[in-house]
Amino acid sequence: MPLLKSWVESANAPNGQFPLNNLPYGVFSTSGDARRCGVAIGDQILDVTALEQDAHLSISDDPVFVASSWNAFMALGPEVWRSFRARLQAMLGTEASQADREACSGALVPQADATMHLPVETRGYADFYGCRNHAFNVGTMFRGPDNALPPNYLHLPIAYSGRASSIVISGTEIRRPWGQLKAPEEDAPRFAPCERFDFELELGVIVGQPSEFGRPVSVAKADEMIFGYVLLNDWSARDIQTWEYQPLGPFQAKATANTISPWIVTGLALEPLRVSTPEREKPLLPHLQEPGPMLYDIDLEVLLLPDGADHPTTITQSNYSEMYYSAPQNLAHHTTSGCPIEVGDMLGSGTISGTTRKSRGSLLELSWGGTEPVEIDGGITRSFIEDNDTIIMRGSARGDGYLVGFGQCTGKVLAAYADPYSRD
Ligand code: CA
Repeated sequence: MPLLKSWVESANAPNGQFPLNNLPYGVFSTSGDARRCGVAIGDQILDVTALEQDAHLSISDDPVFVASSWNAFMALGPEVWRSFRARLQAMLGTEASQADREACSGALVPQADATMHLPVETRGYADFYGCRNHAFNVGTMFRGPDNALPPNYLHLPIAYSGRASSIVISGTEIRRPWGQLKAPEEDAPRFAPCERFDFELELGVIVGQPSEFGRPVSVAKADEMIFGYVLLNDWSARDIQTWEYQPLGPFQAKATANTISPWIVTGLALEPLRVSTPEREKPLLPHLQEPGPMLYDIDLEVLLLPDGADHPTTITQSNYSEMYYSAPQNLAHHTTSGCPIEVGDMLGSGTISGTTRKSRGSLLELSWGGTEPVEIDGGITRSFIEDNDTIIMRGSARGDGYLVGFGQCTGKVLAAYADPYSRD
């Protein structure tokens, strides 16, 4: 499918992030007004809350866009997701009726005037470890290349349950955490600010349909339950993790924050860009086998902007097709226990690393545990994130003559509190 033309001229710009083929969903406000649901088109946002209130859009018997999230819409299910997208494309396409054009023209807000907010209410969050390249790199650093992959790695997608309460929107400042640190040569732990603070380049999958308590879902069913994807920075305190993680996995090391990009790129927009997971090194058990291609070809990059620098430096370029496990496999695995999934739950893909040094998805890997600092423009280096560094993630998938853009996921790391227990 080629670029679909819109009467919103900015949506037809070459290499634009938000053409009519994309139509990602977000929540925004302007100058202190209430939060509304919006759809990105070119450099504008279509205010679908306003269109529903004006009765130009009717999704369901009850209003869907009154709450400041997409949860109510997601709950309506894939058929409504498809028909709504078709309606949007008709309203914003060059063949739109005069009535549609007039109504939509009055509901367009420049993105430059909007503040973005979390697009969904998320109660459950789990983070996976689904990229073999990342698992191999980290395992090699800690156990050597012969024992890099845990024995279960090629049989199931490893994960831990994280906290939904610290998922924050792009632009939120992140405070460097304190924690227990203990280097191998130290006799006892100490309580101090994290010294090895890091990012992880991931995609977050937003689940739009629930699963039943006590019943697992198949990979095919899991694929249908997925609403869309966002960029995800899983902020990681490497030194806190090293000391705390055995035997139950990461806890405080991963709880500080997860930053997500504001626009949910839908599975429907990504549909033409499906690619397969790599060849299986060991056959998966039937309940985790994929009925078709379940990954997407999405280019990803991370930039680091030091405090005061006039431009950021690209420090890694990767692609979502590097994953060993797909989001539907992760979701299907999560339900094998009978654990119910709720509308709005989010799953992290795991750090997305390529096979080359310049495609590693974390500073831990890029600097190889701090032994090979990364060069930043301006003659400086980084082993881990320093105070007042800003981490910027970008992503886009290339269609036939258009992009499906994810926008940006950014966060600036502030210095730790001098005394985290004092308000002074
Ligand atoms: Ca992670």
